[in-house]
Amino acid sequence: MNFVHSTLKDLRVALDTKQVSAAELAEVFLARAEKALALNIFLHIDRGLTLGQAREADARIARGDVGALTGIPVAHKDIFVTKDWRSTAGSRMLADYVSPFDAAVVEKLGAGAGMVCLGKLNCDEFAMGSSNENSAFGPVRNPWNPVKIPGGSSGGSAAAIAAGLTPAATGTDTGGSLRQPAAMCGITAIKPTYGRVSRFGLIAFASSLDQGGPMAKSAEDCALLLEAMAGFDERDSTSLNSNETKTPILARFSEAFGSGERASAGSPLQGVRIGVPKEFFGAGLAPDVANAVDAALSEFEKLGASCVEISLPRTSLSIPAYYVIAPAEASSNLSRFDGVRYGHRTRKYNDLAEMIANSRAEGFGAEVKRRILTGAYVLSHGYYDAYYLQAQRVRRLIGLDFQEAFKSCDFIMGPVAPTTAWDIGAKNNDPVAMYLEDIYTLGVSLAGLPGMSVPCGFGDGNMPIGLQIIGNYFDEGRMLAAAHQYQQVTDWHTRRPEAFA
Ligand code: GLN
Repeated sequence: MNFVHSTLKDLRVALDTKQVSAAELAEVFLARAEKALALNIFLHIDRGLTLGQAREADARIARGDVGALTGIPVAHKDIFVTKDWRSTAGSRMLADYVSPFDAAVVEKLGAGAGMVCLGKLNCDEFAMGSSNENSAFGPVRNPWNPVKIPGGSSGGSAAAIAAGLTPAATGTDTGGSLRQPAAMCGITAIKPTYGRVSRFGLIAFASSLDQGGPMAKSAEDCALLLEAMAGFDERDSTSLNSNETKTPILARFSEAFGSGERASAGSPLQGVRIGVPKEFFGAGLAPDVANAVDAALSEFEKLGASCVEISLPRTSLSIPAYYVIAPAEASSNLSRFDGVRYGHRTRKYNDLAEMIANSRAEGFGAEVKRRILTGAYVLSHGYYDAYYLQAQRVRRLIGLDFQEAFKSCDFIMGPVAPTTAWDIGAKNNDPVAMYLEDIYTLGVSLAGLPGMSVPCGFGDGNMPIGLQIIGNYFDEGRMLAAAHQYQQVTDWHTRRPEAFA
């Protein structure tokens, strides 16, 4: 057995029964990563560091200090800071940056849960993008077809799981960056309720939207990972510490749908109402994606759920609202990169102002500059009310639309993205065409709701398709459980690209 496509549960058994050690497991995945360099998935690998962590995990296992994830490898999106590996956020600005501390998520999965870090994963620069082409270190290639994008911005994370370079990865989602690459690479991911996972040490893009989450092969694996990542953190001022966040996600996951008469009767989802937003099935949705999503909804009906049509009337407004708010926050967050405090400093300057201007001009890529300019514009005197304030009002209404919809359903389901992965370069000269790809994911982010992507089939050219499952606040456990039921009767999540089988 080579463990490359094993589930986290199977890896736990293999480690506990001494079929493999954490060090051997790390070696297996490091060797795979070396063979897949052409996909440009990893930005930083350091064998010595990884094997050091693996030996520590083996020592923990030997002492009996074992949790569900101890000794299992994980790789982090390079937007989470790590004190050992470099943290670049996919930017030239931070090309040589080493953080003095670990992000909360890195700490929780590493020192906390005992997972072994394999390295850092490529992503769009500062997580801005939908295709991973904005990385200063070159695009990631999709393991299903290397001429295609893997989705973005967590493209390296999704591609790494699909290619079997790691059994688990972290990603972040500001407007779809966990869900969309997961859909395009045929893996499972969940963006938690905003505030569920600490943003401490997550290099900020748009702070009111950024949220970390897990990426893995299955909903069950994501449940194990999310349980370990989530939790109150006083170092993040928007971290939630309410009763809802105190109930373990795994407890909800195992209680929901899984047991009792309904499950044994073959209809575990009896009574579950799925809201199907009519706005998610209109013009622009590719037929191959529509068919796969329809088939998935029928599968949920076979499991006992019923579908009801709902409306999210402001879906199309989520694009302008997001592309005002996110750049506004980005322009403010990225002002810290001034050539003094962090990162790149130009060699060409005569005075301070020139030093700052040239450092930023050299350090940031085109998309990041576009967002900084847009953001500064919508926040400027005279335009603030017309754009930023108006976008905030629309954001509020979008949130209310979801709450109205949840009066008649338990979950909302639809496509993650209008199309499957496109060819590298195909949309590079048209940023707006790229922004339009985010239409089904942005609303969830603006509302702060949890959203998942679950593999649900393949479209033209054998490219993966994702089903989006949206839950109400704090309902991650039940969303993951519903997805798990679907994954018990389908095998889309177990398919692997031939070259990486
Ligand atoms: N594609 C969106 C953007 O470019 C979302 C990115 C994200 O979620 N980080 O902003």
